[in-house]
Amino acid sequence: MADSVRRVAIAGAGIGGLTLAIALRKLNIDAHVYERAAELRPVGAGLSLMPNAMLALRAIGLDETIAATGEAAQTSVGLRSDGVELSRIPIAEVAREVGSSAVLLHRADLHASLLQALGAEHVTLGRAATGYRDDEGAPAALRFEDGSEVEAELVVGADGLHSAIRKQLTGDARPPEYSGYTSWRGVTDTLCGATPAQLSESWGRGSRFGIAPVGRGRVYWFAVANAPAGERDAGDPRPMLLERYGSWHSPIRALIEGTPPERIVRTDIADRPVLTAWSRGRVALLGDAAHPMTPNLGQGGCQAIEDAVVLSGALAAYAKLPNALADYERIRVARANRIVRDSRRLGALAAREGALFQVVRDAMLRWTPASAMHDRFIELFRFEDPFAAAR
Ligand SMILES: Cc1cc2nc3c(=O)[nH]c(=O)nc-3n(C[C@H](O)[C@H](O)[C@H](O)COP(=O)(O)OP(=O)(O)OC[C@H]3O[C@@H](n4cnc5c(N)ncnc54)[C@H](O)[C@@H]3O)c2cc1C
Repeated sequence: MADSVRRVAIAGAGIGGLTLAIALRKLNIDAHVYERAAELRPVGAGLSLMPNAMLALRAIGLDETIAATGEAAQTSVGLRSDGVELSRIPIAEVAREVGSSAVLLHRADLHASLLQALGAEHVTLGRAATGYRDDEGAPAALRFEDGSEVEAELVVGADGLHSAIRKQLTGDARPPEYSGYTSWRGVTDTLCGATPAQLSESWGRGSRFGIAPVGRGRVYWFAVANAPAGERDAGDPRPMLLERYGSWHSPIRALIEGTPPERIVRTDIADRPVLTAWSRGRVALLGDAAHPMTPNLGQGGCQAIEDAVVLSGALAAYAKLPNALADYERIRVARANRIVRDSRRLGALAAREGALFQVVRDAMLRWTPASAMHDRFIELFRFEDPFAAAR
């Protein structure tokens, strides 16, 4: 156990910050989360947690609780916009090979489960971090916009894509890099004709539509299209979405029509250039603050969970904080950065609009050997707790 680390101050109560706090408190480290939002509202529709995230959650005893809130995916299919099948992955079988499952769930359910596992008393809302202090001879501290500070032996920036902690740690004040495409996400209260336990993504010319049943008869859907940065919908986005996607295969029209407009969230997709170091002194980054990625591989939240499990384990395994942080980075940086790059490449491919390109792309998807896809998924889905013995 890093004996000097008794208290950890975490900025951000997202998936990464909450998971880290849970993992640390299980090790009897006094972890506390400071969240900018005044209340934790259910946002962002649905999410897929791939087997690597479920294996990481198992390392801290949370996989069964989380799995029970969602629906395990059996298959993942790639389709053309007219419904012709381009690829099919028996995702449950692949997941079994690595010893777990892929779970589709509502973000609100995931957050509620994490918050319950942590205990709401370990989260302070309405505290926006502006940076940190890490001077020799004094405790490190997380700083807030009202000028106050909390001292801790370790400060963690889990404050997402626009991280204030990352900005100070790297000195890079540039905004995230817009991908060129935006997204709309929604959740319906009924299946609307979607196939239970089937994850699907349909590709048109530069646009996509994904469908994921998230349990209790609800369906999470997402639509992706090229658009200028910062563009907003005036009022109900459904007529525009129906114009773009309404002629695509069933049940896409029914899903859009079956979602109240106030439950449709629009988010521009962005990432940042990768970092090779996620820590300095007594400060570390985690999740989107460390490696924001486009969501094309459904891995941003999964990687944040892996970070949390590895960082907590490293703190348990090493007597000295610098050794723990060095091993955290050794284990995590290369893997997460590779996924950032792969995800960016996949998004750029999906965003291309040319008709000829689309024909070639669809043919490639159709004829890619199942074994090639299988091996890539196995690599992505594996997770072994490197510090199991120290917990
Ligand atoms: C369209 C879309 C679909 C996605 N689909 C998936 C998917 O299927 N599977 C998957 O694994 N990932 C997916 N992701 C990615 C995933 O949402 C993120 O990677 C994940 O939420 C990162 O978690 P985090 O805790 O690092 O950051 P966040 O979830 O962004 O949480 C950061 C928290 O910090 C708070 N905060 C921000 N600034 C401050 C501050 N200054 N002080 C204090 N608190 C602050 C925020 O309010 C927030 O609560 C998707 C993302 C998008 C945009």
